[in-house]
Amino acid sequence: MQTTFTPAQLQDPEIAVANDILRTCVHCGFCTATCPTFVTLGDELDSPRGRIYLIKDMLEQNRAAGPEEVLHIDRCLSCLSCMTTCPSGVNYMHLVDHARVHINETYRRPLTDRLLRDVLAKILPYPKRMRSAMALARLAKPFGFLLPGNSMFAKRLRAMLNLAPAQTTPPQDLRGTAHTPPGGAKYRVALLPGCAQQAIAPSINAATIALLNRLDVEVIIPAPTGCCGALVHHMGRHEEALAAARNNVAAWTEIPGLDAIIVNTSGCGTVLKDYGFMLRNDPAAADAAVVSAKTLDITEFLTRIGYAPTREPPGLTVAYHAACSLQHGQQITAPPKILLRKAGFTVVEPADSHLCCGSAGTYNIMQPDIATALRRRKLDTLKAKRPDVIAAGNIGCLTQLAGDGVPTVHTVELLDWMAGGERPAGL
Ligand code: SF4
Ligand code: SF4
Repeated sequence: MQTTFTPAQLQDPEIAVANDILRTCVHCGFCTATCPTFVTLGDELDSPRGRIYLIKDMLEQNRAAGPEEVLHIDRCLSCLSCMTTCPSGVNYMHLVDHARVHINETYRRPLTDRLLRDVLAKILPYPKRMRSAMALARLAKPFGFLLPGNSMFAKRLRAMLNLAPAQTTPPQDLRGTAHTPPGGAKYRVALLPGCAQQAIAPSINAATIALLNRLDVEVIIPAPTGCCGALVHHMGRHEEALAAARNNVAAWTEIPGLDAIIVNTSGCGTVLKDYGFMLRNDPAAADAAVVSAKTLDITEFLTRIGYAPTREPPGLTVAYHAACSLQHGQQITAPPKILLRKAGFTVVEPADSHLCCGSAGTYNIMQPDIATALRRRKLDTLKAKRPDVIAAGNIGCLTQLAGDGVPTVHTVELLDWMAGGERPAGL
């Protein structure tokens, strides 16, 4: 694709990166067929190619974002299915991240939109605040139908209430803890415990730590570990995202002899693996690159060190839902399924497994109509396989797919159970 940035514009390193990305796109449109928003809405401007044109025009003209760009870029799930499909290697992720920062800096959203985004950014990255918010949402949930009208604001509030889990979980704050195997450790890893995950499903971290300890892995969660920054990153709140990244890079860099940084929330894992790029012009650039290189999804690490079950096969069929951040963001497709089969489960996959379930961070709150349509489609294709349980490697997907008659559990909970751990409570 030809671009017309001026030499002066190309002096800006962010524009130079965008220019390189845009020039790799050959307009072929292969990406449209696998884009969930194009498949759902049928509008070229809600396809990757359409968004690329919108972003190109906005950046080349060096103008503030307008309602049209905001509408179609907000509708993008950042699922990155388009990156898996693209034959030219277009880095859509970095391009849309740049566009979101530009929108955040140049576009004044309606008041309710700004308020909601502020509330989400101030609550979701903090497990204690998140637990309190969930308790309130659980109380308010039966009254959700009283929210007036069918405005986007009312729909978003109802979507927030609907996401509140039915049961309270014990509080979990793993920061500042170390978990050493009783017989000594062969490996030492840091674990990113996840913000929402600690509030919604503490059993996932418990299973991860128990399984790693059983495999002679010491697990450290340093006190300063915080949110990975994905939530604010996807809102275009650039400085907040960089501050979160710097904080974690500093925390993990201080741990001596670290073999890996383990992530069991794949949405966060995609961002950690991008810290090297995000902080490339920062004094912490070298440390950030090391952190990104050491970051592994839990299934990558288990594959590397070896996993073997100790229980008899349970005779259960698992429908494996591939989280977008795992299959597209990190290109991890086979390891979770191989591990689940090794653990003794029959593994089935839904049709159109490349399509997003509609969770996508806060997308299911901010874009409730599209998210609901994608959830229904995903659940129908999963349930067509008649599974006993749905497994995924990302808390957002598990929450999105819960409550439709089939239990949803994290892949690592099933692996831990078959290696001698507790049966997942979700089952
Ligand atoms: S990231 Fe997903 S929703 Fe966004 S353009 Fe690409 S395929 Fe479509
Ligand atoms: S598949 Fe890649 S090269 Fe083709 S239009 Fe989409 S982004 Fe551009």
